[in-house]
Amino acid sequence: MIELKCNCEKHRHEIPTKVIEVSEHAIEKVPAILADYHRIFMVADENTYEVAGRRVEELLRASGQLSHTLILPSPALPNAENIGKVLIGAGIDTDPYDINAFSYNPDYILGVGSGSINDTVRMVSYRLGLEYGIVGTAPSMDGYASVVAPLLNGRAKIVYNCTIARHIIIDLNVNAEAPMPLLLAGLGDMVGKYIALLDWEISRDLNGEYYCGTVADMVLDATNQVSEAAPYLKDRDIETIRRVSNGLILSGEGIAFTGSSRPASGTEHMIGQTFEVLDVEEGKVPNLHGIEVAMGTFTAMELFRRVYREIDDPVVRPLIEKYLPAFDRLEALQRDLQLPFTVTDKDRFVKAIIKGRTFRVRYTILQYLYDRGLLEEYANDVYDVVMKKYFYRTFKEQFPDWEA
Ligand SMILES: [Zn+2]
Ligand SMILES: [Zn+2]
Repeated sequence: MIELKCNCEKHRHEIPTKVIEVSEHAIEKVPAILADYHRIFMVADENTYEVAGRRVEELLRASGQLSHTLILPSPALPNAENIGKVLIGAGIDTDPYDINAFSYNPDYILGVGSGSINDTVRMVSYRLGLEYGIVGTAPSMDGYASVVAPLLNGRAKIVYNCTIARHIIIDLNVNAEAPMPLLLAGLGDMVGKYIALLDWEISRDLNGEYYCGTVADMVLDATNQVSEAAPYLKDRDIETIRRVSNGLILSGEGIAFTGSSRPASGTEHMIGQTFEVLDVEEGKVPNLHGIEVAMGTFTAMELFRRVYREIDDPVVRPLIEKYLPAFDRLEALQRDLQLPFTVTDKDRFVKAIIKGRTFRVRYTILQYLYDRGLLEEYANDVYDVVMKKYFYRTFKEQFPDWEA
């Protein structure tokens, strides 16, 4: 269990995660970290099996801890079909078949992969009442320490309550070699935290919403560390990968600690996730979460800058002012890194901002603008600003061979 003493109204935060290991060659430590488990069911997809799963399987077999392995076809989306496959694959039939027996079940599920495998395995773990862990293969999203799973169920993306990973193992050497779109997505998910934290502070001061300064400061510090190191991401620099990995895990922990996604998700996620939902509703595979969040972040930054310039609000203005230096850093970072865009169509862009306000019940700058009758005007005007300042290439232009 990870525990955090705190001076917020909760006084103490705790999560049932036992080990978080982020280090070079961390894979080699898997048998020792999972020493309490002896019938481990390992789940990977074809790609993650190649980059890490095969070695993990070999180590667990050698130590006598492996029950069996399931390899899903790549790319393995977190959908109902794959959850069904993992559920069916979890047990082994008794031999000879015994009409009175249940299948022989594992004592632990170990996912090897990133967001999709983690979400799939987390749901099965929760439903079967079996502890699970994840060997992360890419620092691509903040879900490693998440307690919920956003899953594709038909033409809907539904966020289900689940359990948290008991062990999170990130091998920096493996993660540094992850596909570039995944590295950029992780960065995108991370830089969005500035917006999330600012929205949270605004709601604390305007609505008296619960706020934990300790968790907020932890996430802010991690976000600063990531944005400082971000220019080296394209070189696959190990220290940068370490900071991004730690930051993403810490953001997830922040959610688990506070029981709310406030520390990690605000306007930027509500806009980014609306882009994802629009795709899912049209039967398309959604783009990488962190890439959508990055677009939401740039959009939110410009909405905040305009509020700062035009609305003389004694509560909100000083809060925005605190974050303006971070916004300047992100703008410079985008000139350097050129994170791709997935949406350039104005109607879709404006629609995502307006619909994003109600993506979930959460007070953000979108609600602030809506309450003042300004949301439509701001949403329409911000499109040109964002396209002019932040857009370089579409995701498809930059990564034409990328699947899912
Ligand atoms: Zn607290
Ligand atoms: Zn996210």
